[in-house]
Amino acid sequence: MNDEAPAWTCPTCHRAVVSEYCPGCGERRLRPRDLTLRGLLAQMAQSITNLDARLLRTARSIVRHPGELTVRYLQGPRKPYIGPIAFFLLANVLFVAMEALTDSNVFATHLASHLRTQPWSGWIAPFVADRVAELHTTMEAFAPKFDKAVAEHAKSLVALMVLPFALVAALVYRGARRPFVAHVAYSLHFHAFMLLSLCVLLGVLAVDVWFGGAGLASRVFDNALALVHLVVCGLWLYLASGPVYGARGARRVVRALAMAFGAMLTFLGYRFVLLWITLYAT
Ligand SMILES: [Zn+2]
Repeated sequence: MNDEAPAWTCPTCHRAVVSEYCPGCGERRLRPRDLTLRGLLAQMAQSITNLDARLLRTARSIVRHPGELTVRYLQGPRKPYIGPIAFFLLANVLFVAMEALTDSNVFATHLASHLRTQPWSGWIAPFVADRVAELHTTMEAFAPKFDKAVAEHAKSLVALMVLPFALVAALVYRGARRPFVAHVAYSLHFHAFMLLSLCVLLGVLAVDVWFGGAGLASRVFDNALALVHLVVCGLWLYLASGPVYGARGARRVVRALAMAFGAMLTFLGYRFVLLWITLYAT
């Protein structure tokens, strides 16, 4: 290509260029076939397959080689993959779709549960009563509205867990001396994996309901899925800690357990924050 036309002027940033792509802005040299309809279609097909390939590669890496993506992100080869934030958002979109498809609310906590079975149940009743009075409504009328709103917030605000979990990682692996962004990338990858794992479990649930099962309404099934999810996520945290933080031996197990505990605390905190957001936005 370079032999045909040794130099060209980049039409975007106006610098003289000799390579196939402009080193300043990445613009590609215009070729005759770019100006044909065929060229347009080829370009579209290429960008779709390129995105497809990156998406598949990213998803495969996160499932089969926990931690590898984070390491790659930190070491430099980013082009073949989808970045941590974009991938997390895609996983979140998929999760919202799966929840809609299976009519489930994995992260939502109903008002009744907030008032009775959560660690804060003992002291939030006056706040809820105040809010109900402020809205000139009754508890009976407010509860279903709250439950509906909390379900919406729960699936769209998962990103709120990313930063607190990164702080937990920074604390647990402070000896590894990684830059803070490493913990954030690690947290984004973990949450993306967690959402994908939930998507698979929701798929199992859909199949169960399809074949006449009771789905999440069945207490045993609900608990079994929650346990599988916990074990899978714990295992991911353990496996990922090797490549990302160089963790080894008994300490690796202890720290992975600390991270799993941190994930549960983060989730509890998320539930608590959702309570206040929903209480004052409903
Ligand atoms: Zn340029």
